[in-house]
Amino acid sequence: MTKPTNAELQLQKRYLVPGRGSIPYSLAIEHTDYPRYCIIGDQHEPAEARSNLCFGCWKQLKYDLELIHDRWDNLDDALMTSRRPSDGERAGSSTEGSAAPIDLRVSEAMGLARHAVYSILRTLVEDQPFEVFTTTEGTWALAGRLARRHVGYIASHPDEQVTEAAYIATWKAARDIEKVTHPPITTQPIESHCHQFHDPGDGSRRPCPGQLVGVVMPDGTTTIQCSEDPDHWIPMDEWLMLQTRRDRLAKKYTSAPTRRLRGASQQGA
Ligand SMILES: [Zn+2]
Ligand SMILES: [Zn+2]
Repeated sequence: MTKPTNAELQLQKRYLVPGRGSIPYSLAIEHTDYPRYCIIGDQHEPAEARSNLCFGCWKQLKYDLELIHDRWDNLDDALMTSRRPSDGERAGSSTEGSAAPIDLRVSEAMGLARHAVYSILRTLVEDQPFEVFTTTEGTWALAGRLARRHVGYIASHPDEQVTEAAYIATWKAARDIEKVTHPPITTQPIESHCHQFHDPGDGSRRPCPGQLVGVVMPDGTTTIQCSEDPDHWIPMDEWLMLQTRRDRLAKKYTSAPTRRLRGASQQGA
């Protein structure tokens, strides 16, 4: 943060600092005695001289804000598509064509996240009125912005109760979101080409030019998929078994001198 002008200091919310009276936010940061240990109670030293949080809790706060940002789409989807009766309480009748039931767990998680993000924001605009936020930014965008730029602000707040409330509200919202959503699908390129055949449409069979990627599904299972043909996929354990067999065959047939030597010592190997 750049040094605020006098006019800006006048606009800032004031905090009571022992020996200094009620002073603007930017000055309160400089004159507050920060706690010796992280206020979350883990007995770790604060990450910085002016911080209420240790490095671990600082990272956790950033992670939780990022999680709210990253999973907002999943929450939207879960809200609209959780349609097994056991998934949530049904609103209205169960007649076909009636209003879609709302998954209360999902809407509650979204509510917690919204509350956490907007509470931080409310304090932030009081402390730093020159920080501009547009009203069109939703919870999703704001959570991402807080994670990128304002974790230090939250951690170093001169009123440690502000830090504590923000940390706890964000933590609770993030854990609830984890319960009702799955992590997004992730992919991992694999240094191997597809071993299946590819039909370019003229009836000829050619080795598939596809590269392989490991795809981790939301339920944690991994499949190996081909970049060229969506039908060329295989569960990871099967692929690993095939790889082992291929490695063994490769050793047997690529090293002719070794094979000859082996053949001389053990018949039929
Ligand atoms: Zn801590
Ligand atoms: Zn393929």
